[in-house]
Amino acid sequence: MAIDQSLLQRILQESPIGMAVIDADGIYRIVNPAYGALYGHAPTELVGRSFTSVFPEEQRARVLAMHQAFLNEGGAFRGETDVLHRDGRVFSVLAESVRVPGSDGRGERLVYVVDISQRKRIEQALQSSQQFLQSVLDGLTAHVCVLDEAGVIVAVNRAWRAFAEANAGLAERVHEGANYLTACAHDLRGPAVVDSAEAGPFLQQLRQVLGGQRLGFQLEYPCHSATEQRWFLARVSRIEGSQPPRIVVAHDNVTALKQAQETLRDSEALLLDLAASIPGAMFRLVHSADRRWRFVYFSPGLESLFELTPAQACGDIHTLARHILPEDRPAHDQSIREAVAAGRVWEYEYRIRTASGQLKWVQAKASPKPGADGSTVWTGVLTDVSQRKHMEAVLKASEEKYRTLFETVPQGVVYQDANGRITSANTAAQRILGLTLEQMQGLGSIDPRWHALHEDGSPFPGDQHPAMVALRTGQPVSNVVMGVSVPDRGHAWLLVNATPLVRQGVVQEVYASFEDITERVLMSRELHLQASTDYLTGVANRRGLMERLQLEFKRLQQQPNRRCAVLAADLDHFKRINDQWGHAAGDAVLQHVARLMRQLTRQRDLVARSGGEEFTLLLPEVDADEALALAERLRQHLQATPLLHQGQLLPVTLSLGVSPMSAADAAAEVALLRADQALYQAKAAGRNQVNLAPAPR
Ligand code: GH3
Ligand code: MG
Ligand code: MG
Repeated sequence: MAIDQSLLQRILQESPIGMAVIDADGIYRIVNPAYGALYGHAPTELVGRSFTSVFPEEQRARVLAMHQAFLNEGGAFRGETDVLHRDGRVFSVLAESVRVPGSDGRGERLVYVVDISQRKRIEQALQSSQQFLQSVLDGLTAHVCVLDEAGVIVAVNRAWRAFAEANAGLAERVHEGANYLTACAHDLRGPAVVDSAEAGPFLQQLRQVLGGQRLGFQLEYPCHSATEQRWFLARVSRIEGSQPPRIVVAHDNVTALKQAQETLRDSEALLLDLAASIPGAMFRLVHSADRRWRFVYFSPGLESLFELTPAQACGDIHTLARHILPEDRPAHDQSIREAVAAGRVWEYEYRIRTASGQLKWVQAKASPKPGADGSTVWTGVLTDVSQRKHMEAVLKASEEKYRTLFETVPQGVVYQDANGRITSANTAAQRILGLTLEQMQGLGSIDPRWHALHEDGSPFPGDQHPAMVALRTGQPVSNVVMGVSVPDRGHAWLLVNATPLVRQGVVQEVYASFEDITERVLMSRELHLQASTDYLTGVANRRGLMERLQLEFKRLQQQPNRRCAVLAADLDHFKRINDQWGHAAGDAVLQHVARLMRQLTRQRDLVARSGGEEFTLLLPEVDADEALALAERLRQHLQATPLLHQGQLLPVTLSLGVSPMSAADAAAEVALLRADQALYQAKAAGRNQVNLAPAPR
């Protein structure tokens, strides 16, 4: 059943979202302008090509397999993926798929695609600046020394020593045992001792720590060399409770950190710009250790989505939720609880009504990261997916419409795979065949349980079934009448059409459609019976005789060992009966003779009234002697059984001629002529007798 192409086309052409229909072999069947534009192609360039061509080389086999699995088994075919632009650049898209009925009966995938490279870039920028920061902090190599209260250096670390040794003249002044205050006072240049302008405040604060007036301090100072800009951070702290008292001085080269902060400041500004330009709203939500929720950030996109300012949303955690439709609220809350409990990405779609009364579908997606103080920070995006939801609804409706059509047509429709096994059947098929879909699935056309028949009652071999012929030849087969056995109904007569579904030269599937013509067949049989039956006696008429004669002659020619005899009978002086007792009495005698002949013959023998008072009998599987014996029995019986008609006994006798049929005869009628000749001789010889024709040459 094909999908309404014009409706689909319209949706596709007008959609601002990239959409394409991909058939079961992965070939683009339909591509809309938005889809083509996304990849840098005209739609016509993509149609007919494999959809894998927009994927990086190494991904192609995998996405084709996923595509086919999706069509065969359903499940999911969605998510973010990297694809290829015509100009060779890789970008990210969010793809959603829906299975639609294909024009050839196999499924097709309608995919719609949104460019999310922008969002991806933001995510990556965020991630890389954090990583950068982290690596700087991890790589910190502080120069550390420990002082006593007098400022004498009692210990230094490896980095301190290494730094002192690398800087001329420093090692002599800042080694263990030297006084750090003195070193600072004498040499105000170079790290490990403090430089120039900051030296005053540094020494002053250091003395306060040494004297116990304060616990510690830190001071950042520049220490540029001739070739590079450097910053150091000096941290001084009293080790609490140590005895004797000890003071730690650490100098960190924070140049990289400082640069990172500047970079971060820049990138934050960039992030804000980007955040403002993407559709939807980015947010940060903090779930603190005491289980309270707080929005700490919303991008400006919130205003067009929810008609709320970031400040309003951040000010009260319930502001957003109040716009969610009440019926969507419980499931929405539940989805959050589940994501929190599992520590997994939260993803949910729900409906909101904005302050101005607009109904929208919102997709929320957020992922958790551990924050400070045992809190969890959820970073995510809210996106308006109303259009997609609308499209989904339209599609679903059209899919349902075609499903309904398939289900409600009066014709039975059955799909069979390449082996002839039934895979699907509509309601009409189930009704006509008297089987449920489950009973039919897997059943093949060749199955003997169908007891298939031709119209003449001969067996219909399974491999001649239209579906099997269509599968074998790749050609459609139409208007074949066949009878199949239907539970509780005997045979149902079907008018069958079969159409093969050919793909790349190979027949993949066939669908057989059929209508129930049982009534028509029975009616025409009845008409045929009437046309070949003698109205007066109920035995066959001349037409019935000639049909059966041709059939028996054909069988004889096909099977030379077969036999068949013909018996011609004519009532003796019948005219006299009419003359003496009237025409009605004559009719009664004819009926009487026919009845008698039926009684003395077998079911398979044919008794026909071939003329006014002439009868012909066809006796299959009977040779000349047996036919002669039967003729004699008939003759004697009739003679011994006069008809009692209106109180009168009407004696009547019969003359008979007998001849076997021969396959060597030029025509079926030749045997009739021989039998008639024999009959004529029986008449000539005095009537009421039987005569065998000479054997055919
Ligand atoms: P023979 O022994 O030579 O066959 O003599 P016959 O009288 O039987 O032969 P003939 O052919 O001279 O006459 C046949 C008669 O059968 C003539 C006709 O009136 C009569 N007949 C033919 N059809 C019918 C019928 O349907 N009903 C009745 N009552 N008579 C019929
Ligand atoms: Mg006659
Ligand atoms: Mg006669």
